[in-house]
Amino acid sequence: MRSFGGNEASEDSKPRGSSSGVKAGKKTASSSKPEFSENAAFLKIFAYQYNKCQEHGGVRCRLELLFVADKVGVEAKDNLALVNRWRLVILALINEVQFQKVEDLKEDDLPTPPHYLVCINPFSGKGKAPQIFEHKVKRMFDEAGITYKKVITERKGHARELAKTMDLEEFSGIIIVSGDGLLFEFINGFREREDREKAFKVPFGMVPGGSGNALCAAVLSSRGEQCHKNIAVHAVMRIIKGKPHLKDLVNVRSQTMNAFSFLSIAWGIIADIDIESERFRFLGETRFTIGSIIRIGFLRKPAGRLSFLEVEDPSRYNHLFQKSPPPASHPGSHGGNQNSNACTEAGHVGVEVPGGNGAREEVELPELSEPVPSNWTVLEGEFVGILIVYISHISNDFVCHPGRPMDEGIILVQYIDSTVGRRDLLSSMEKFKTGDYLRYDVIKTRVVRAFRLEPLNCNGILTVDGERCEYGPIQGAVSSQKCYCIM
Ligand code: ADP
Ligand code: MG
Repeated sequence: MRSFGGNEASEDSKPRGSSSGVKAGKKTASSSKPEFSENAAFLKIFAYQYNKCQEHGGVRCRLELLFVADKVGVEAKDNLALVNRWRLVILALINEVQFQKVEDLKEDDLPTPPHYLVCINPFSGKGKAPQIFEHKVKRMFDEAGITYKKVITERKGHARELAKTMDLEEFSGIIIVSGDGLLFEFINGFREREDREKAFKVPFGMVPGGSGNALCAAVLSSRGEQCHKNIAVHAVMRIIKGKPHLKDLVNVRSQTMNAFSFLSIAWGIIADIDIESERFRFLGETRFTIGSIIRIGFLRKPAGRLSFLEVEDPSRYNHLFQKSPPPASHPGSHGGNQNSNACTEAGHVGVEVPGGNGAREEVELPELSEPVPSNWTVLEGEFVGILIVYISHISNDFVCHPGRPMDEGIILVQYIDSTVGRRDLLSSMEKFKTGDYLRYDVIKTRVVRAFRLEPLNCNGILTVDGERCEYGPIQGAVSSQKCYCIM
């Protein structure tokens, strides 16, 4: 057996039309590579290796390895059988298929490669989602033997219709190339199905194509991947390697809306930044930085009421608020080892987090017209902003619950009251990147199971999962229904 490999210059290089698998026959090799006999058989392996440590890049480098069986006097069919055996063994090891003897391994022992519905939003982010799919996702899926049906969304609401009507048996999962808004549509399309429980067994994979890619950042960080550079490639690797993991959903209710939310509810400064920066959409994620500076400059403090039911044992979360940070692998680490397999499911290396599973009873919410139960805490006054969040990140630059498992069954209520000024906010901005702001008093945090938010002014912006919704009271509690993310 001989092998040689080529290391491509970048992840962006165009597909060469090669595919994974085995081949037999004469290969006309380039001048630097040897020529093989007509009986030669080939096995090509594609790898996406990290080329550097996380601090200095952490990008993946595409590698093609060609293995050749070309023994003198051996027939083509025997060479082909040999490389096919190598292929079966490698795939069995990757897929953790148990086998006693190499000779016993059969094609049928291996799991069938998935068939996905790929949903691409041409409107999301800078409008580059179709190109991200063509230049990054497609080739990697082809190399991994993943098949798919591609749908480009034609309008707002299209994904929701697809989710309501799709044949659940047809696909192993749904891959969304967009921001969080398209996933919100899918989740709520599933919610409206009669076979809702069955629908929620279909897992979601996210490839970041939007300007808000919170779920993708949370998934990558929980697997120890970095979520800043070339994240589409990291996300596709997670989808190819990953297995479905449970993710909490929160039942949210307003006067006109009944929905499942998977990220956050924002009112005040964060919602304003998210929506008012829409006009800078062409800048991608940079729109949030510009929006923040403008909004802090023109600080508003609307009146509101915030009510919540705290978890039974808030001290379990004290590690988030301790002034001296726990020993993490390096500053800004959301997981440590970017080769992820060394990372626990809970993610944050060095921080002991309460384990997820969230199999708790649903809190029964009162009608919005009724007062909250007497065991809830009620805060009333002026707020710079309120963020109610049930995920580790609300963007790849904003970590609101470091190391959080995806299905912990809790909600963080974070609020900035009227005592906080511009200088405090500006000095906190750097700390958003790591979640370190939780250790200071500018933003106060409570760990809760249910909440109600009531703006007491007439006009403003309220968002659910980054999408603007009707302005008015809204409440929510962790649902017993969960969805699956491919991680
Ligand atoms: P971003 O992170 O850039 O906001 P999202 O995934 O949140 O990206 O999508 C933004 C919005 O685009 C969603 O509300 C979605 O419903 C809507 N949408 C989907 N397809 C289209 C389309 N073809 N034209 C216009 N809007 C669309
Ligand atoms: Mg969006």
